[in-house]
Amino acid sequence: MYQTGTSSALYERVRHVIPPIEWPVFEDDIDTILRLKRQRNAIILAHNYQTPEIFNCVADITGDSLALAREAMKAEADVIVLAGVHFMAETAKLLNPSRTVLIPDTDAGCSLAESITPADVRLMRQRYPGVPVVTYVNTSAGVKAESDICCTSGNAKQVVESLGVPEVIMIPDEYLARNIAAQTNIKIIAWAGHCEVHERFTPADIRSFRDSHPGVVVLAHPECPPEVVAEADFAGSTAAMSAYVDSHRPSRVVLLTECSMSDNVAVRHPTIEFVRPCNLCPHMKRITLGNIRSALEEMRNEITIPEAVAVPARRAVERMLAVKG
Ligand code: SF4
Repeated sequence: MYQTGTSSALYERVRHVIPPIEWPVFEDDIDTILRLKRQRNAIILAHNYQTPEIFNCVADITGDSLALAREAMKAEADVIVLAGVHFMAETAKLLNPSRTVLIPDTDAGCSLAESITPADVRLMRQRYPGVPVVTYVNTSAGVKAESDICCTSGNAKQVVESLGVPEVIMIPDEYLARNIAAQTNIKIIAWAGHCEVHERFTPADIRSFRDSHPGVVVLAHPECPPEVVAEADFAGSTAAMSAYVDSHRPSRVVLLTECSMSDNVAVRHPTIEFVRPCNLCPHMKRITLGNIRSALEEMRNEITIPEAVAVPARRAVERMLAVKG
């Protein structure tokens, strides 16, 4: 049915999660994006929450925010398109400042990043003098610039423990902070930011999945409330959840995270039954093939960060990347 265009061969990758009737809508954009990437010497970094046609058909590198940060730092392409939210594009620019970094939609934000400002961090420091500030990468460059070190959901425990102190301030995700506090003896002072996707899951949801899908294995993201993590079978970053499915191959699984994550893992595991509670991230979903194409055609929405912010923010991100584990 799909004889023409490079994209036709790509359909085989996603046929398990994209119905044939929807595919023609994507083909022209995919062919054009692949051509523009060659013309511009561009690469696309896509977060695990991107839709399957982006994640599987135009992305060069995929992963969680930690993996994308590491790959952005190494990228040799002239142009990096970040198929994710704004703070991810800023992190790519911080780590590879000589590249042109584009975000397909500048309004692709994050409820966590919006929950705290640089002035809030300065107030926290006044209130808890001498206590180091560990900042989740889901924050603006301005907030990172006020921080001692960054972390992701994949390395938060290692980062907190790397500092060799009895107490840290961990911002802005209250639930990530409480979930890490449950795994370490270090006292954690939290901020009241929440991810609008993960805060919606409840322990009652888990019981309902277990009742309606006997034997289902429940994996939760650490941005979920601690009582949800406590009832899950496993908690970890999107990379850790993906690796869990790869290694354990449960026959039935539910991922308590953003909807597209299940689709993208399911592409690799067509025989596993994914129960799909759908909590969409409206910010991640602002990124489409259409605006990736426009960003590359017009070279628009370039990320710039003033040097006075970029220097201390970069230091906080690089300190994180130097932590082993
Ligand atoms: S899923 Fe949550 S943490 Fe991730 S970008 Fe969306 S609002 Fe932010």
